[in-house]
Amino acid sequence: MVIVMRPGTEQREIDKLVAQFQLQGLQVGITNGVDCTILGLVGDTTAVDINKISTNKQVERVMRVSEPYKRANRKFHPEDTVVKVGSASIGGGNFSVIAGPCSVESEKQIVEVARDVQASGAALLRGGAFKPRTSPYSFQGMGTPGLDLLLEAKAATGMPIVTELMSPKYCQLFEDKVDVIQIGARNMQNFDLLKEVGKLSKPILLKRGLSSSYEEWIMSAEYIMSEGNENVILCERGIRTFETYTRNTLDVSAIPAVKRMSHLPVVVDPSHSAGMYWMVEPLALAAVAAGADGLLIEVHNDPANAKCDGQQSLTPEHFKTLMDKVSALVDLAGKRMVK
Ligand code: PEP
Ligand code: MN
Repeated sequence: MVIVMRPGTEQREIDKLVAQFQLQGLQVGITNGVDCTILGLVGDTTAVDINKISTNKQVERVMRVSEPYKRANRKFHPEDTVVKVGSASIGGGNFSVIAGPCSVESEKQIVEVARDVQASGAALLRGGAFKPRTSPYSFQGMGTPGLDLLLEAKAATGMPIVTELMSPKYCQLFEDKVDVIQIGARNMQNFDLLKEVGKLSKPILLKRGLSSSYEEWIMSAEYIMSEGNENVILCERGIRTFETYTRNTLDVSAIPAVKRMSHLPVVVDPSHSAGMYWMVEPLALAAVAAGADGLLIEVHNDPANAKCDGQQSLTPEHFKTLMDKVSALVDLAGKRMVK
């Protein structure tokens, strides 16, 4: 249930209402908007009498929220959430690009790529240290030493780092070392993992599951938010369809749809959607045109010899061309490119 307070309502009136709902066993999320305060009630609201609340002179409007997602719902929080990471920010008109290799392979590789993508305008560095691979015989990532190499690249460039967490056992390590924690497509519905990252203070980049609906995806964000971590960035990375030509099908509709359903920022990963380097640029531009808040792009300094996802990785030179076009389109969309 959402309660919109009249503009100018005094704080003590709001506090009184909040205390009343808390006594009824409900949790109350408070959003202070530009011109009004919104109370979002979470829990069993069946006993809450809408007519009674509406008689309160400070209450402008009361709405029942039929969707199962509450904290992630735009009705709870009409304004865009802006996720801040160091000097970068994503959402609410701020556009950031996350770039880097699929996996961290060596100090030279990650530092070189970090310098290159930063020079082209990327705001955050990505690189997998723990890799979710379809085959147990494929390269599984460098593990913890990979995290330390990411930290070296961060020290060299100042770029915040984004990397995937697969197991709750590394939560503390990631909390200590990583700036944005990625939950991969395959773990989007690993509810125990979602609950654990919900207790951390770092922003979470939540990738859409291979065959997940918008609602299932937002419900996974809700799991994280229900534990207290409201800094969730949604990432559309292509879904399974009948088409086998591409690795996945980029669902461009997800951008306007999910941004209407939720206030959370939506970034797009054209690399895993396409699975082919030459398709990354047109898909990236389509994502910007459709209203994405950022991009996640795989870049490698030697794609032919990459340990993972070389076929979809851009060279630093190609990434620069892409960034020039993306920047122009971000401008045209009236957004601010964060570097
Ligand atoms: C990745 O970002 O390298 C990755 C494995 O992504 P996804 O979970 O979207 O497949
Ligand atoms: Mn990859």
